[in-house]
Amino acid sequence: MNNSEQVSESATLRLQRIFGFSTFRANQEEIVQAILAGRDIFAVMPTGGGKSLCYQLPASMMKGTCLVVSPLISLMKDQVDAANAFGMQAGLLNSTLSATQQHEVLARLQEGDYDLLYLSPERLATAGFFERLRRAPLSFVAVDEAHCISEWGHDFRPDYLALANLKQELPGVPITAFTATATQRVQEDIVRRLGLRQPLKTRASFDRPNLFYQVQPREQVNSQIEAVVVAHPDEAGIVYRLSRADVEKTAAWLQKRGVKALPYHAGLDKQTRGRNQEAFNRDEVQVVVATVAFGMGIDKSNVRFVIHGDLPKSMEGYYQETGRAGRDGEPALCLLLYSRGDYFRLRPFIDQLPDERERQLGQAQLSRMMALAEQPICRRRAILHYFDEEYGLDNCGACDVCVHGVQSINATIEAQMVMSAIYRSGQRFGAGHIVDIVYGARTARISTLGHDQLKTYGVGRDRGKRFWRQFIDGMLAQGLLKSEGDPYPMLQITAAGEEVLFGRAEFVSHQMLEETGTRSDEPSYDEQLFALLKKKRREMAEEAGVPPYVLFSDKSLHQMCNLFPQTPAALLAINGVGQVKCERYGRPFLEIIAMYAAENPEACARQTAKIQDTTPPPARKQTSGPTMDETLRLAETGMDVEAIAVERQLQPSTIASHIGELLQQGKGLDVDHYVDPAVRDEMTELFRVHGLSRLKPIVEGMEGRAGYQQAHIVRGFLLSQGWKMEAEENAGHQD
Ligand code: ADP
Ligand code: ZN
Repeated sequence: MNNSEQVSESATLRLQRIFGFSTFRANQEEIVQAILAGRDIFAVMPTGGGKSLCYQLPASMMKGTCLVVSPLISLMKDQVDAANAFGMQAGLLNSTLSATQQHEVLARLQEGDYDLLYLSPERLATAGFFERLRRAPLSFVAVDEAHCISEWGHDFRPDYLALANLKQELPGVPITAFTATATQRVQEDIVRRLGLRQPLKTRASFDRPNLFYQVQPREQVNSQIEAVVVAHPDEAGIVYRLSRADVEKTAAWLQKRGVKALPYHAGLDKQTRGRNQEAFNRDEVQVVVATVAFGMGIDKSNVRFVIHGDLPKSMEGYYQETGRAGRDGEPALCLLLYSRGDYFRLRPFIDQLPDERERQLGQAQLSRMMALAEQPICRRRAILHYFDEEYGLDNCGACDVCVHGVQSINATIEAQMVMSAIYRSGQRFGAGHIVDIVYGARTARISTLGHDQLKTYGVGRDRGKRFWRQFIDGMLAQGLLKSEGDPYPMLQITAAGEEVLFGRAEFVSHQMLEETGTRSDEPSYDEQLFALLKKKRREMAEEAGVPPYVLFSDKSLHQMCNLFPQTPAALLAINGVGQVKCERYGRPFLEIIAMYAAENPEACARQTAKIQDTTPPPARKQTSGPTMDETLRLAETGMDVEAIAVERQLQPSTIASHIGELLQQGKGLDVDHYVDPAVRDEMTELFRVHGLSRLKPIVEGMEGRAGYQQAHIVRGFLLSQGWKMEAEENAGHQD
């Protein structure tokens, strides 16, 4: 290569002109320069890190064709479409083409017509193919998803083994390999099998700063999933479930509630799977509910949320699956619904592994995953730590632990309460029943077993059931309890637990704090305009027969809805808009923006003012605003106050006041669902004495057996029964 200064400059210019990006991302420039210098490359980059640009950009600058080996035929057309949309010359060669078409492609390859030619790996194994390739002008080979060559990887494909001959068959053609696999063993395997010669090895950080990680206790899984879907109207998401049956159930649940959702699992025939995936890819359905069989073929950049309805088996799996969210770099949510019981559902998968070592590994992986879900440690830090990467910041600002904060409290007494309930009931019951004892629930099982006679019955009534559930998880995580028995796990006290039970040691519990104050849930772009542009994008994509994100990414559209570009020059300044895209697709978007800006001058001014405000935009979008309707909708699914509070990221007291208000309005909620009838009776007596206008005397009168939350609810109920507030001037809420 000649003067590298010059090359560097022209690569940067090309980055702007063709791809519309102003700067390289981490590692991209180094890789591009090394490819231009003719080196072999081994690059590890997380999903969404921008791998394709690394080979597309030099391919556009070098003589000859870059062969791109890509594992999925279904994806190839989209990749080719995407490259062509940037104005590159890209083609594909796979079994979907007729013999004549294949001939044509090969003839064009010979002529050096392509910048990029996408191939399936089995193509390389066909007789005489290397012979042909040797006669064609080639710049280099790019092996995408290179981990498919490793039997140690999760996506091993025998077809990929043909790539082991590349070096010998095409001597002198540099090989570049790209993967998002994080495991060391697989990485070494790839380099060895491909026979890379002194490759440039790079590894980008696995941090995905635009992903928000959150873990919620699983209660009513489908309602919890639905709530997220509803909070992201018109935004694409993937829901992972462990079993095919659950995939079907969740998909049906969402469909019944009017969500456009489709299932995907290996039990469906190939055609149906292909159809469902395509519908998702093209924004025709909002949600795919799937087993882990789904994902490799997904290049969709605008997935805004990934929900795990069950615990994944390993951190690798979790990272890959959540990694499918937010490839475009825009905020996206990764929610894990966790229940400790998942352990017992996953254990059989591990137990059936033939090899003892593999079983141990499986067990260790599962434990790491449980630790992620249970420990109040920054989720991002925990994930990166697993991949041997130390996260530099104390607070990542984009996981539930960091956003809510963690409080460590001496909870020895609470732990003793729980253990006493376990002990007195004979160490024969699971967490659910123990919670019922401590909380003092009135279930048939409690009365049949006479557990309402236990000394510990109801001692923890002032905390919600949910609190106790999580508290027990914390005790399990810290080894005070163990949960044993199959299929019905029973809680038992460990030696460490006994130390605490008998007062010889203390128990410090780490609890996630509830969020204080509400965050702004306003997106940083004009949503109305976004909807218009998105509609246009879909129409145009349909016409062109490509997925919508190929035209402009969500990120590009968001920026348009921020900056209101109204000339081609202004449009070129938008991230992801290069010359060709601007010329080919820009006009209709500019027209819509101009019209919208004329009709809504105040929206335009508002956005401009916002941009001039130097504070950076919020890192992510929150779920919808504090409306009563939303609370009602969640309440109707049977969620309790705490669950709704977590879901809505509001204070439980706020939700309780909503419930009170809704009861008063006669919205058909059942007061008994929220407040124990005995508590309600006691409170009713107190309200009779003190009146309805002030809650404080009621709560004080309850002497810790109930709090403001219950008071709000009971008051709402009494108002619905025709009780009246007396002194209006004192009627303000007390808490
Ligand atoms: P990967 O294949 O690594 O998952 P992609 O190549 O699909 O990732 O890139 C992910 C997204 O990042 C795409 O929307 C792409 O346009 C965008 N992107 C890539 N490089 C840059 C860059 N330098 N600046 C801004 N966006 C980029
Ligand atoms: Zn964090």
